[in-house]
Amino acid sequence: MSDNLTSIQKKAFTELQAASTESDVYLIKSRYLGRKGALTQIIKNLKNLTADQRAATGKSINDLKNLLEQEINNTLQHLHDVQKQKKISQQDLDVSLPGRKLPLGSKHPITTVTEKILRIFTSLGFEVIEGPEIELDFFNFEALNIPKNHPARDMHDTFYLSDELLLRTHTSPVQIRTMQQHSPPLRIICPGKVYRCDSDISHTPMFHQVEGLMVDGDVSFGDLKGLLGLFVHRIFGEDTAIRFRPSFFPFTEPSAEVDIQCVMCKGEGCRVCSGTGWLEILGCGMVNPAVFRNVGYDPENVNGFAFGLGIERIAMLKFGINDIRLFFENDYRFLSQF
Ligand SMILES: [Zn+2]
Repeated sequence: MSDNLTSIQKKAFTELQAASTESDVYLIKSRYLGRKGALTQIIKNLKNLTADQRAATGKSINDLKNLLEQEINNTLQHLHDVQKQKKISQQDLDVSLPGRKLPLGSKHPITTVTEKILRIFTSLGFEVIEGPEIELDFFNFEALNIPKNHPARDMHDTFYLSDELLLRTHTSPVQIRTMQQHSPPLRIICPGKVYRCDSDISHTPMFHQVEGLMVDGDVSFGDLKGLLGLFVHRIFGEDTAIRFRPSFFPFTEPSAEVDIQCVMCKGEGCRVCSGTGWLEILGCGMVNPAVFRNVGYDPENVNGFAFGLGIERIAMLKFGINDIRLFFENDYRFLSQF
């Protein structure tokens, strides 16, 4: 009997090894374990044996049955895996290839610098205010103490839309609009696009400015100097030297231009700073009493300061960019560096 079982096991295993499809395996299963299968027949014949023989043979049959079931399951699993691999290779999909990288966008350098500037001033209590880009002559010029035919208008290369409407040439009109609507004290910072009819390596017809204004009962030029010093140090680093030069703007009196030590040569003198060791970065001054009168403030009771700067200029110096037009060409190779 045990010889019989051994030969069944041998035969079944050989057949399972040769099976190439799942249905082959199911046929083998029914051939040995099915109702009319070889092993089932032997179990049926157990009744002809003595009680002792029956116990021993029964155990052997059970062991073989378990063994066969195990081997059948293994074979099914193996065939299933082979089938899966075949399917994958037919789909021509190489799962070992690295994924395709999508290029990641980044913030435009002008946005980055604008946000940084606004963060510095809002942390000091300044409120961000924006105004229209199409502006009335009154807000852009007259209220800022630049009447018609004033020579300062020549500096602005204005795009006029009509006699009274123009594309704003600076962000200063936002000061006027804000002061008209709110009484002092005021601390505002006004970012935005401005327009001038000019285009070369350091000018574009549209560029960005930030305007700051502080009005209160007792504001000094010393406050302005302290504030701008702090601003320069946060943008260009603590060791950046800064100087104020007397200047003229119709809307501030006294007025100054602020220079920083050249970021390229550290004051030694180079092509960027024309050998002077200094770079002009912004204009500022104490608000002209005439401007206060134009918005209905009493210059006897309030004073204040204002400052304005070009964001492109700051970004060019900060990142060492030598042509302003690069900001607006949207060349991915340029933008991806920031
Ligand atoms: Zn220099």
